[in-house]
Amino acid sequence: MSLTGKTAVITGSNSGIGLGIARALAEAGANIVLNSFTDRDEDHKLAFDLAAEFGVEARYVQADMSKGDDCRKLIEKAGACDILVNNAGIQHVAPIDEFPVEKWDAIIAINMSSAFHTTAAALPLMRKAGWGRVINVASAHGLRASPFKSAYITAKHGVVGMTKTVALETAKENITANAICPGYVLTPLVEAQIPDTAKEYNMSEDEVVEKVILAKQPSKQFATVEQIGGLAVFLCSDAAAQITGQPLPVDGGWTAA
Ligand code: NAD
Repeated sequence: MSLTGKTAVITGSNSGIGLGIARALAEAGANIVLNSFTDRDEDHKLAFDLAAEFGVEARYVQADMSKGDDCRKLIEKAGACDILVNNAGIQHVAPIDEFPVEKWDAIIAINMSSAFHTTAAALPLMRKAGWGRVINVASAHGLRASPFKSAYITAKHGVVGMTKTVALETAKENITANAICPGYVLTPLVEAQIPDTAKEYNMSEDEVVEKVILAKQPSKQFATVEQIGGLAVFLCSDAAAQITGQPLPVDGGWTAA
């Protein structure tokens, strides 16, 4: 499948799943706009390396997805946006009655509201191009809850709802909107929550991986960033043109239960 000539903007893509999706889309021929809130040499080098490896255009645009204006400016600076991947996300684990307000606000802004701002800015460009793909990286936690993750679960359920609305608003326009719902993928985001979860459950970190994290996934395996990237490429293909408004789990069977 060739995405040559298409431009993909992937939020939160200097690490983990976002970078995995960027690599998969670049391999399929798309030009890439990487993003995060930092502006380090190593961020720009990621784009340079992608361009060299896959022979596409790639650049890194700094923008803070906790700020609505920055979200919209990211799309403006990209210039074109045929494929929008809303992936930026953070996590915080605490009981709801102890959940820090600033963490709640940051998670709702970065994990949910950023997708509203980028989508609003990108749809006119997709309509002008006569083709578009909105891919929201939600989560199995957009379909199921777990304790101690109130902000994350609220945000991810919100993203799944937003995805359905965008799909209905664009249904006749050669634009699709879908939500990839990964189960656990071993990225920095998951690694970082293991110590706090160990504290909440009074377990060792190894026990958390086995008894809390992978306990959810009947396959007993982490999903990989390559598998998520493969689904993103498929969603950009003609074969997926009639798939829209759907949450698509990649979760080893978690949400089958
Ligand atoms: P990660 O920490 O590796 O990636 C998160 C990305 O978001 C990073 O590139 C980070 O720089 C970026 N980011 C954070 N705050 C930002 C901000 N204010 N502005 C711009 N970018 C910002 O974690 P990941 O696991 O790759 O997570 C990516 C997405 O996948 C998230 O939305 C996450 O909720 C979702 N997800 C992850 C898993 C998992 O198990 N890892 C499961 C389901 C869903």
